[in-house]
Formats: sequence, C-alpha cells, structure tokens
Amino acid sequence: MSVFDGVDFNHRCEVTTDPWTREYYSVDSSHHQIYPEAVCFPKCKEDIKEVLHLASRKKLPVSSRGAGTSLLGQSLSAGLILDFTKYMNKILDLDLQLNTVLVQPGLVKGLLEKELKKHNKFLPPNPASGNYCTIGGMVSNNSSGPYGLGYGSILEYLQRIDLVYSDGSDGFAEGRDCDPRLRRTLSSFISSSRDFLTSYPDVSKNSCGYRLDAVFTRGFDSQNIFAASEGTLAILDSIKLKIKDLPLFRSLYMVHFPNVLSACSYAKKILRTNPVALELLDESVMDANIKSTIATENGCLLFIEYFYQTEGEIDNLQRTLTDTIQLGGKIIDDAHDLISINNLWNSRKNALNTAIKHTVGNRKPLTLFEDTAVSINYIYDYVTHILKLYKEHNLSYVIYGHLGNGNLHTRPITGDDIFIDKWSHRKQYEAMESLTLSLFTKVYDLRGTITAEHGDGISRTPYIKNVYNEHVVNCFRQIKSSLDPLNILNPGKIVM
Ligand SMILES: Cc1cc2nc3c(=O)[nH]c(=O)nc-3n(C[C@H](O)[C@H](O)[C@H](O)COP(=O)(O)OP(=O)(O)OC[C@H]3O[C@@H](n4cnc5c(N)ncnc54)[C@H](O)[C@@H]3O)c2cc1C
Repeated sequence: MSVFDGVDFNHRCEVTTDPWTREYYSVDSSHHQIYPEAVCFPKCKEDIKEVLHLASRKKLPVSSRGAGTSLLGQSLSAGLILDFTKYMNKILDLDLQLNTVLVQPGLVKGLLEKELKKHNKFLPPNPASGNYCTIGGMVSNNSSGPYGLGYGSILEYLQRIDLVYSDGSDGFAEGRDCDPRLRRTLSSFISSSRDFLTSYPDVSKNSCGYRLDAVFTRGFDSQNIFAASEGTLAILDSIKLKIKDLPLFRSLYMVHFPNVLSACSYAKKILRTNPVALELLDESVMDANIKSTIATENGCLLFIEYFYQTEGEIDNLQRTLTDTIQLGGKIIDDAHDLISINNLWNSRKNALNTAIKHTVGNRKPLTLFEDTAVSINYIYDYVTHILKLYKEHNLSYVIYGHLGNGNLHTRPITGDDIFIDKWSHRKQYEAMESLTLSLFTKVYDLRGTITAEHGDGISRTPYIKNVYNEHVVNCFRQIKSSLDPLNILNPGKIVM
C-alpha cells in the first residue's frame, strides 16, 4: 500500500512511486542507501506546501534533493524526496545594477555561471561538481571550492531566502527582516551570540552544525541560518544571491614540490602573496594527463591562482611567487588565458574521480574524515599527524584539496584482505575506527571543523557534539524543534 493511497493532490504535484525511480533516488554520492516511499517533482511553492501538508499529517520524513552529489547521505530519505531539478530550476531575476540574482533551488550552478558570464559576472563559490550541483544543494551544504580562499563559501552571498516550513506555512529571511517564527527563534539566541563567535571552530569555512555564528557576525543576518542546514529547518523555494564582477586578468601557476609536507610548509608564505586559490594535488590523485605534463609520477602539486585588474601586474606576481617558493618548489606550468587556465584546472577538478579509481576489488578509498579543516597556522602539524597515522596503520591513502583554507580531502584505502574472513574484516574495521577517532580528536584539539564544505549528513552528525560545547549543541536542538516541531524535515541529519 502506498502512502498516497486515498490522497487527493489538488494541485497535482507530480509524484512517482515506481520501483526504478525509488531505486535511483535511494543513493547519492555517499556510501549510504535508503529507499524513499515516493519521489515528488514540485513545479511551484503550492506543490511544496501540498507535499508538506501530507507529510505532516502522516508524519512522513521529507528530504529535498538537488543533483544528489552530496558525499555524506544528506539527500536520502525513507519518506518523500522533493526533487527540484526537474521544474524548479530557473533564473527568476538578474539585477546587474544591484549585482544580485534570484533563482529557484534546482538551478544547476554551471548553467547559472554560463548566464552570468555573458554579463561579465560570476558567483564565486565553485565546487568541482559545479557542472551538476544545484544552488539549493550548495546553500544547504554551504559549499565552496577552490575560490573559497579568496571569496568565501556560498553563505557570504546569501541575501534573501523564501521558504516553506514543515507545516506548509510561508517564511522568508533577509537580514534583519524575517518572518515572525524565525524572528522569535533566532532572537532567543541573542544573549548567546558572543559565545557563538568565540566557541565556533577557528577556521575560514565551516559546514558543521547550524551556522548561528554567521547569523550574528555582522549584526543579524537571518538568512545565514539556512546555510549548511541541509534541508532540516525549511524547504527553500527561492534564493537571492549577491554576484561579483569577473576579474579582468587571471594567472594560474602549477608548482611542483617533492612531497605533501614540503608543499604544506610553504602554504602560509604563499598566502601572503594574496592568491584567490591555493590548491593541493598529491601524487595519489594525479591523473595520467597531469603526470605526462609534469613528466613524473611523484611529488605534490600546488595550483595557485591570482585575479588582478591591470595587465602589468603579472610580472610582479610571478617574481613574488618565485621569491616566495625559493628553492622549495618549482613552477612547472602557468596559464594566463581562459582556455589554458581551464585546461590546467581540470586535473585538480578530477581529483575526486581519480581518487575513486583506487577502488579495485576490495580496495576502496573511504570517506571517513575527508573534509576536515584546521587553521592554516596548524596545517603542517596536522598533515604530519595524518601521515603518521596512515603509516602506523600501514594504509595507503589519497590526499588533495583546498590547502589555502586548511581544508584537505583525504581518504584511507582499505586493504585487499578486508573481506577474506571475519578476523581481517574486524581488524580493518577497528583500525579505521581508531584512525577516525584519533584524527577527529586532533581536529577538536586544534579548534578545527570535521566538515568545512561537504556538510554533516548521516556520516558526520554523530560527531557534531564533539565540535561544539554543550550549550551550542542545545541551541541546535532548540532551533530544530522550533522550526520543525514534528521532526519531519530530513530527520537524523545535524540533530539526532
Ligand atoms: C565529484 C564531486 C566533487 C565535489 N567537489 C566539491 C567541492 O569542490 N566543494 C564543495 O563544497 N563540495 C563539493 N562536492 C560536494 C557536493 O557536490 C556539494 O555539496 C553540492 O553543492 C551539493 O549540491 P547538490 O545539488 O548535489 O545537492 P544534494 O546533494 O542533492 O543536496 C544537498 C543538501 O541540500 C538539501 N537541499 C537541496 N535542495 C533543497 C531545497 N530546495 N530546500 C532545502 N534543502 C535542500 C538536501 O536535502 C541536502 O541536504 C563534490 C561532490 C562530488 C561528487
């Protein structure tokens, strides 16, 4: 019997319960799998409300979904899935005077970028999945990418959000102006705002828990509470974002270092040259193309990009960078026009795909702690700690990511013998658990975050309580119960 038996959809939201569709939506880009009861394709706000009325009546979980590229299971649900990519995927308004764009949540980032480029504008956060992922997904995970260094994560571009709460009522958030329910909820935290600003992780980007700190950083930015909220507080109906002018000139340098640690030891010095991106690609994730370009299989690459406004700046930049890396690294390629820059970036963008290719038989790179971040002041010590743990456990691994933000994506690779017998399975399970706990403990000690841009999802939620103090964790529970009292919006994510 289907949950839709006897339900009259007045507005006729498109709904399907066929087994193939349910199978398709039972996975995202994580290792989790959950079969939904049904998948709904809303065409407008009324459709969202209709689904939420049904869900709250029947106490069914509802999870929103963009492209399903999340890596921690946050778009999966045992109840209803709301897929925004089919219909609610448009640009609603582009204001070139005020530099804002109003979009529906299912709009693909790459398509928005194409349109903005016609007007010499861009939305800086640029996840490697940008050709598929949606704005709704990016906001809900607080995504960033390489330009997170120069431009921050998507949270910093949020201007206004129109939304629907779990009981089907309307809401909105735009700075000091917001609906009464949200005002009531957020106002109750004003007395704790100082605590949020001092007790949150000391990092340049963070997608762990609810971003109460970002609500109070510059006064009262109510819309920021929905960044990184993973569809657990409300369903986003439309999103207004600030956009930026494209830079007049860009230069990208690829610098080779003998190994990851030597590259990390130069990170702070390179940051003083003001790059907009400082990315790391270890030999473990270099694709064949890049290996042939650099004529070696070994070492570590840094991708360093600068934006600038006058053509003459390039000579200065190159001189400063060469002086900065001195004898530690060697510039082995550079690009200054759009096509060559994009070609060079492709190898860095392919890092996750190359990482996944390490999957052979029982060997598999695991997403246990792949998105931690620490302050750049600690990055050398932190990476030393990670490499020591891998060595102690005799594990191979992949490592790459946003070095400039202290945010490295690293995954241990399981051994070939993991499924040989119960004993080897148990041994590897224990090794992975001890590795994860040891690494997270180091992150907590350094006031880092367990997730800088990928979100919490099913995998990270159990660890949130270790990142924040008890008071902050209680505030998370309070927000959730105030905005979603029935606990039907993406339950089990962020608040357990
Ligand atoms: C190959 C690859 C590379 C990646 N590279 C990066 C990277 O460089 N940087 C980075 O930050 N991330 C990266 N990611 C992670 C992921 O792509 C991003 O988090 C992305 O923004 C998710 O978008 P999505 O459309 O796939 O969202 P989904 O995975 O579908 O959903 C993400 C979350 O948003 C919620 N959601 C979606 N729409 C709504 C809505 N309308 N209302 C409320 N909640 C909603 C969902 O419920 C879910 O919790 C990468 C992933 C892959 C597979």
